[in-house]
Amino acid sequence: MAAKIISGKEIAAQIREELKQEVTELKEKHNIVPGLVTILVGQNPASVSYVTAKQRTSHDLNFYSEQDNQPEDVSEEDLLKLIDQYNKDPKIHGILVQLPLPKHIDEKKVLNAIDPDKDVDGFHPVNVGRLMIGGGGVRFLPCTPAGIQEMIVRAGYKTEGAEVVVVGRSNIVGKPIANIMLQKAAGANSTVTVVHTRTKDMESHCKRADILIVAAGVPGLVKPEWIKPGACVIDVGVNRVGEKISEKTGKKIAILKGDVDFDAAKEIAGAITPVPGGVGPMTITMLMKNTVRAAKLAAGL
Ligand code: NAP
Repeated sequence: MAAKIISGKEIAAQIREELKQEVTELKEKHNIVPGLVTILVGQNPASVSYVTAKQRTSHDLNFYSEQDNQPEDVSEEDLLKLIDQYNKDPKIHGILVQLPLPKHIDEKKVLNAIDPDKDVDGFHPVNVGRLMIGGGGVRFLPCTPAGIQEMIVRAGYKTEGAEVVVVGRSNIVGKPIANIMLQKAAGANSTVTVVHTRTKDMESHCKRADILIVAAGVPGLVKPEWIKPGACVIDVGVNRVGEKISEKTGKKIAILKGDVDFDAAKEIAGAITPVPGGVGPMTITMLMKNTVRAAKLAAGL
């Protein structure tokens, strides 16, 4: 039987509706408006489009939002001063610095300068540490992994006791999603294995997975025969494999493929995310969710 397709677009739309309602209630009951600033250095076209999408979503959700454009040659010192300014600004609950930054700026230094309580991307070492420790101290989960967990849960998969295999160990996807699924908490409590380029016999690990999360950046890496029948497959990979002309706009667009052979895998898996339209749409939504959480935490709610 063909797998259920887990639509990131639909789940993201559902979460945005929930957030909209929460934002209305925060305003009505507590006079709080979640505030997000997105800082863009230079005009890298991909970064401009990501920041534009984040701004559009925060406007749609009735946030207070600021777009701060800095020139390509802004000094590290000035950027750090700017972050300090937003750290102290009570209207701003979330600070997002769009990466990558120009080479003359130390990215780590800049990200570490963000107040951990405004770190809605969840990459500050304090928030990474909080996630490692687990329990009630966890504040912000990094957005892509948080979106993956939401998709698994909302697709109706039981995570408790499930064998979760994560392909990839990056700091932005592999390691944090492994930590999230390992938490002693609802939507987690899984038995987690992480595989990578030095793993012996990746296939045998993948075959055990009730939930297989693939974030390697290698098109078609996971073969259909590696998938356990009925498994939930989350394909995080976004790989440009060519170009085509868009039927809608008549413009050239990238052909995107995931890390899993989707057409064959969907005949074996119980549920699977498509690429595009799977994990991708969840990331910005989880950034908005973190911003609402930051606003509530700042107000002691
Ligand atoms: P990354 O930093 O390049 O890490 C890739 C990981 O995969 C590494 O740990 C690497 O292992 C492992 N890997 C690579 N090739 C492998 C192979 N042949 N066998 C086993 N393991 C292999 O990538 P990332 O930032 O995590 O991103 C992964 C993919 O997800 C990319 O396609 C990216 O575009 C996509 N992505 C999507 C979203 C989204 O949809 N919102 C967000 C983030 C990333 P080693 O550590 O041993 O090198």
